[in-house]
Amino acid sequence: MPLRLILGPPNSGRAGEVRRRLVGRASDEPVLVVPTGDDAAWFERELCADGEPCLGISIRTFGWLFEDVAAAVGLAIGAQLTGPQRLALVRAAIATTELRRLRRSSQRPGFAPALDALIEELQAALVTPRELAERAGDVEGGAHEAELAELFRAYSELRERSGRTDRGALATTAIAALRADPEAWGARPVFLYGFDDLTLAQRELVGGLARAADVTVAVNYADRRSLAARAGMVSELRDQLGAEIEVELGPDAAYTQHASLRHLDASLFEADPGTVPVDGGVVLLECAGERGEAEAISREVARLLDDGTDPGDVAIVVRHPSSAGTVLANVLAGCGVPVALEARAPVDRTAVGRALVSLCRAAGGHGTAEDLLAHLRADPAFSESIADGVEERIRRGKAVSADDVFAGWESPPRHLARLRSAPSARARLLALAWIARDVAEGAHRGGAPLATSGGQEGVGLLHPLELRAAVAAVELLEELATLGDLPGCPEPTLDDAVEALEGASVPTWRGPTDGRVRILSPYRLRAGRARYLFCAALGDGEFPAAAPPDPLLGDDRRRELRIPALARREQADEERYLFHACISRPTERLYLSWRSCDDEGLALARSPFIDEVLDLLGDEPSRAEDALKRTQGLEQVVPAPADAPSERQLARAVAARGPRVDAGAILDAAGVAGDVRERVLASVAQIPDPGALPGPLRVEKVLESLRERRVLSANQLEGWLSCPYRWFVEHELAPVRLEPESDPLWLGGVVHEALERLYRDPPGADAIPRPGDLRRWQARFGELLDELIADARLGPERVAVVARMREQVGRFLADEAESETELRPRRDLLERGFGMEGDDDPGGLDLGEFVLRGVIDRIDVAPDGRGAVVRDYKTGANVTEAGKFEEKGSLQIQLYMLVARRLLELDVLGGLYQPLGATDPKRRRPRGLVLKGEERVGGLSLVRSDPCEQDDFEEHLERAEQVATAAGRELRAGEIGRRPLGGSCPKYCTFQPICRLERAIGLPSEDSNGANGA
Ligand code: SF4
Repeated sequence: MPLRLILGPPNSGRAGEVRRRLVGRASDEPVLVVPTGDDAAWFERELCADGEPCLGISIRTFGWLFEDVAAAVGLAIGAQLTGPQRLALVRAAIATTELRRLRRSSQRPGFAPALDALIEELQAALVTPRELAERAGDVEGGAHEAELAELFRAYSELRERSGRTDRGALATTAIAALRADPEAWGARPVFLYGFDDLTLAQRELVGGLARAADVTVAVNYADRRSLAARAGMVSELRDQLGAEIEVELGPDAAYTQHASLRHLDASLFEADPGTVPVDGGVVLLECAGERGEAEAISREVARLLDDGTDPGDVAIVVRHPSSAGTVLANVLAGCGVPVALEARAPVDRTAVGRALVSLCRAAGGHGTAEDLLAHLRADPAFSESIADGVEERIRRGKAVSADDVFAGWESPPRHLARLRSAPSARARLLALAWIARDVAEGAHRGGAPLATSGGQEGVGLLHPLELRAAVAAVELLEELATLGDLPGCPEPTLDDAVEALEGASVPTWRGPTDGRVRILSPYRLRAGRARYLFCAALGDGEFPAAAPPDPLLGDDRRRELRIPALARREQADEERYLFHACISRPTERLYLSWRSCDDEGLALARSPFIDEVLDLLGDEPSRAEDALKRTQGLEQVVPAPADAPSERQLARAVAARGPRVDAGAILDAAGVAGDVRERVLASVAQIPDPGALPGPLRVEKVLESLRERRVLSANQLEGWLSCPYRWFVEHELAPVRLEPESDPLWLGGVVHEALERLYRDPPGADAIPRPGDLRRWQARFGELLDELIADARLGPERVAVVARMREQVGRFLADEAESETELRPRRDLLERGFGMEGDDDPGGLDLGEFVLRGVIDRIDVAPDGRGAVVRDYKTGANVTEAGKFEEKGSLQIQLYMLVARRLLELDVLGGLYQPLGATDPKRRRPRGLVLKGEERVGGLSLVRSDPCEQDDFEEHLERAEQVATAAGRELRAGEIGRRPLGGSCPKYCTFQPICRLERAIGLPSEDSNGANGA
């Protein structure tokens, strides 16, 4: 029987011709072969579109057809290897084959899947291991291909030993059997529709069937450059199988009323295409950023739906829907548009997949606390508050390994316990499969099924994607559990399970797409049609796309091997063909969209296909572009109210006009009325005025509580001066950080305590280090430091911080040993508290409406027992000099000097900050305030500008008292506000999300002091 061809370009009615013939031969039980299961479902709907059932017609993919042929010729088909089983045999083949050229690459994780894919390709090209080995021997440097052939042979042997078959082996056997007995198929006519290409195995099968039955192949082909990618298939069918062209269909110009669309379909990529006037058939969308493009498209779609278009009449094509379709789908769904994203999602990006992968890692010998936390977070049955507690312990360095997480709990988390208690590798994988089900269903066990709503495909973990991921994971894990039965295959480990889960994917959409906007690839679009079609993400490098590289057998080597069936299609032809498929599908309008920049504003080049289109429109491409283009820049973060695609977007658009606008007038101008108008007005009214500053506090109970505060600390007052709002957050809201205390704060506390103990019990004869005993002082300080941090679990950063501080204090002690001062720290004045209500407490410093309390690091006293210098350690490198006390809001040392004078009845000679973190000898000197000409401070290594006359000295103290009193009064009156000292926020303030000040998150201060915060 002759093999017949139906040729025709897009819009020539090939599908209708095939349908007509199929129905005409229904009594002969014809078989229609289409590329995928989805194509089968689509064609089935087409056949039943008239409402009449079509009995007698079978729709098959090639996989099914090979099985049908095998059954027809009487082959006993053994069980086929599943994907994981096949991969396991490939891995076993790699493990048992001696490799030299491929030895290193074979150890990489992607090698086995790549080899699996190559073997499948070789089988489809009917290339045997022997043929590949022979060809490898003919080419220069063929050792690489020879080893591939050896791996292919090893796999084939293992498959034979397993007693199973695979697609390739089944195809080879079925073709051979059909050749021997073509009549076995009978007279059932066979039709092929929708194929871009046929593998050699498929062609051989078609040829075999054509010997006994009518076989008709419909090909999307005409002698055009845009369809050149399919010329090879037509010539192969004609030259190798003797196919005859039975019908050559012409384009149906009536498919659209727009001349521009017809012209693009007929002439795109042709040498001398000519032009047609711009009409309403084409729109260009120039957008900024990925989300900006999705929002621009969603606005156009919303407008179409608002005008009465059925969502099913709109399609959005992207070259790679799995990567580029998600944002589009989310934005459309967010606008209430029913959408179907026809792509695949990696299992490990779903909550179920993440839960399984992280659990496998946590259960392994090196499982970290983060691994276990990731699992607990993904398990809906696990308490969120307990997971928060786990996260806090991890952030604070208290849980490092997975076992640390549940130390002190009655038992490990149940999934981990189940996995660890499984008695064998197989049982572990089955336990993991059970956990996959449990995670997916856990949130809703015992509850009613959740309804879908708002055009979304579902909610929560019962989202269909999660359920599909769980089903896929269960099947995969149960298959993995059986791999130990295959020859040469060890029992799979949890690492194997992770690798399998990370390599698996699930469809993001299942089921009919009627009534939904489809987001799909050009390959899936070819069989369909849309009234309105968006071709999105038209960036250079995105569409046209580069050919995917083959890691094992590149294009050059394929050519050198001279196996025609392994030759790849020309990528440029393929991309032109796919783009043409896009522009030939819409009947009403084609939208072409691209991003002129990314989300950061970085310029991006658009696809050269846009210019190919413009060359065909109007009298001049740039004028055509001006006429057709709609632009959405990065500055358009919200749509114009009249263009808002959803109620939420409308509220945002109105709110963006500012706090004092007449929202009602804006809505009236946009033609918004009724309930929507009222709801938008209500939601806009709730938005706080972004210009309104917070404070002062107004709640009487809070004010009363502040008024009752009669005791404040210097630290609080300085905090108030640095920014009243910052003080409010830090002291009153007191947010608990998940992270450990910042290094300066933590270290400050440790160093202060070590220094207090050192001077309280000095390791030498004197109260300060002297040249002869310096090493003892330094060593003792080191011991004290070690004692204080003995129980802390220090990460590498803190180990470095401690080592640095050991050095810095060592230098401070060395400086002090060189000093000729006669001042000495008095033991009872080390870490001297006041206002703390202890036995020997002198009471607080009376500042009128309140008293000051605190702890003074150290007071050094002159030999007369009266003269005294107040000392304050700072772990940072910078301290405030007296001339900048007011500018920097520094009060502490002056107030402590007043305490020493009034409460401890000392003759105060000065107050000095000691910068322990400074390294430069000059900057290591203490800074502050001392009495000029006072002999008792002689021998101190002072900066020349710090000593001041008695009057200035007293004025500093008086001024500090006034400022402290005023600050305390404001604080107790609740007069908070965003008033950073000097008008600019300190870099280390991280409270912007709370005070709602728009600026970057700051860093922890290096100069902050961890001690004495009362
Ligand atoms: S960010 Fe500025 S205004 Fe806000 S609390 Fe911090 S210092 Fe104050």
